[in-house]
Amino acid sequence: MSIASNIQYIKTQLPGNVRLVCVSKFHPVEALQEAYNAGQRVFGESKVQEMDEKHEALPKDIEWHFIGHLQSNKIKYIVPYVTLIHGVDSEKLLLEINKQAEKIGRKVNCLLQVYIAQEETKFGFLPEEVLTLFEADKLNELPYVSVCGLMGMASNTDDSGQIKKEFGALKRLFDTIRANYPSVPDSFKELSMGMSGDYVYAVEEGSSLVRIGSAIFGPRLY
Ligand SMILES: *Cc1c(COP(=O)(O)O)cnc(C)c1O
Repeated sequence: MSIASNIQYIKTQLPGNVRLVCVSKFHPVEALQEAYNAGQRVFGESKVQEMDEKHEALPKDIEWHFIGHLQSNKIKYIVPYVTLIHGVDSEKLLLEINKQAEKIGRKVNCLLQVYIAQEETKFGFLPEEVLTLFEADKLNELPYVSVCGLMGMASNTDDSGQIKKEFGALKRLFDTIRANYPSVPDSFKELSMGMSGDYVYAVEEGSSLVRIGSAIFGPRLY
């Protein structure tokens, strides 16, 4: 299967309101160019330097989404051009993004990463911590950050019931926030959940952005 046909196939699986983030980490510029030629314009990367290099090398109408664990000292490199930072997992990181974004006068779109899996290794806010951010109106103190929604990763398991339960819980948290906090902006509308192995369940549970890598490019060569 080619990159183009994999993208085409995945798109037939996605409802019209769900967007595909093509996760291109560890794949060479040539592979991204192939996806670009197939019409793909949204790419997800997990390392700052790698994303910077690809952003330099590839056409300028690409949307770059940062999906990795962002270190504070690297924020400044991506704030000038990044379209969406998916994995913001602490208040400290939000403050730091706001600070770097203010320096260049550009409002940066972020998603709050919520811890939904049963595993120990995944980063993220606890659901209660996210609610507290909205309750305490903390986000209005950050004029250069636009919180556009939530992101989560389900447990790495074959138990589809468990995966759906975790995605369903994230969707309910998302709906609760939208319904209960008057300060929530209109831009709070994205729910980033679903990867190659579980995007079908994520879509069933209400995802708006799926982050898919290996189902497009094949296995990553680390
Ligand atoms: C690598 C990665 C993906 C894509 O994973 P695949 O299983 O290759 O689709 C999605 N989201 C995050 C946060 C990732 O790090």
